[in-house]
Amino acid sequence: MTTDVPTHALPLLLLGRGRDLASERGVECPGDLPAPSEPGLIERARVAKAALGESVFVLGHHYQRDEVIEFADVTGDSFKLAQQAAARPDAPFIVFCGVHFMAESADILTSDEQTVILPDLAAGCSMADMAAAAQVEDAWDDLTDAGVADLTVPVTYMNSTAAIKAFTGRNGGTICTSSNAETALRWAFEQTGGVDGPGKVLFLPDQHLGRNTAVRDLGLSLEDCVVYDPHKHQGGLSREQLQAARMILWRGHCSVHGRFTVDAVETARREIPGVRVIVHPECQYEVCELADDIGSTEQIIATVAKAPDGTKWVVGTELNLVKRLGQLFPTQSIAFLEKNVCYCSTMNRIDLPHLVFALESLVEGRIVNPIRVDPDVAHWARVALDRMLALPGPTHKD
Ligand code: 13P
Ligand code: SF4
Repeated sequence: MTTDVPTHALPLLLLGRGRDLASERGVECPGDLPAPSEPGLIERARVAKAALGESVFVLGHHYQRDEVIEFADVTGDSFKLAQQAAARPDAPFIVFCGVHFMAESADILTSDEQTVILPDLAAGCSMADMAAAAQVEDAWDDLTDAGVADLTVPVTYMNSTAAIKAFTGRNGGTICTSSNAETALRWAFEQTGGVDGPGKVLFLPDQHLGRNTAVRDLGLSLEDCVVYDPHKHQGGLSREQLQAARMILWRGHCSVHGRFTVDAVETARREIPGVRVIVHPECQYEVCELADDIGSTEQIIATVAKAPDGTKWVVGTELNLVKRLGQLFPTQSIAFLEKNVCYCSTMNRIDLPHLVFALESLVEGRIVNPIRVDPDVAHWARVALDRMLALPGPTHKD
């Protein structure tokens, strides 16, 4: 039977009320938050962090608000933050200013004696919500029925639930981030005879990162890629299509990066002579094709940092980071690629009131919003994460 209706449809649930069982994160933040308008918040955060000293380590993703980045011990992209979490065995508390899947990965990579805290449990990721573990198991059954599962290696983007990372670990695959997707894909194809061999990759859950990497970096063709739609029977694909494909891309995308358009790139080129266009690889293939540079959040910062004074950029990534680039590099001209795209609303849920709430609670001996991944899930997810951390090539430590 073919159906376009999501099988896991739930009634509308307002953010902040109850728990959305179809989501990888919670939707409520219990507890007494200070009012955002409270004038002493910065000082309260400073005092609480100082009182906690070495016992707390604060990680901040580049998409966080400035008011939160101010208190981060380390900032980074999702790869660097995963490495940093794994490299801090002495900190009993890791406060993760990012989104839920990042905090889950940090919990998996840290010891049982350490606690990872997400200041607002409602900070999820709409892309991670586009792949549920049961749907991925169904997709694997489809690949098995088509006789291609033995030839397929799952490669799962960091932006996914711990359960899907565990599926990946159990089935011989690896995790990737936007900074190592090419290396991860090459590794996956090597497991089945190389990029020119007979093997396939099931890429979850961001179709754009998967397509961009396979076609632009590995030299596969667009025809080698098919899109598996979890809401359709057998992904909406015939047995023959599954057998012929080299890249089976999950039908997921980022609700922020998916909105940057070819039109915006063309407008920027028309209106700003000599402009350089730099975008995140979660953008659509057609947008990436027109860009001068593509990179993870960390790579975008490094590329702009190396450019000479006077360079003109338009940047296609989350607005908090683009604004920060403007502050960090005042001798260059930095513009936002698209007027119709705004902040990542879930990243933005971590604000000063939530950070103060998390830190002051720790000072009072209370752990709020701990992220604890089920031990069996954590075991297999760690297998996949360790494969990623062991991949060859440059790391952020280099
Ligand atoms: P990075 O891995 O580049 O930090 O990206 C994470 C993310 O969520 C981008 O939308
Ligand atoms: Fe998820 Fe997109 Fe937000 Fe990144 S920017 S956390 S992929 S919704």
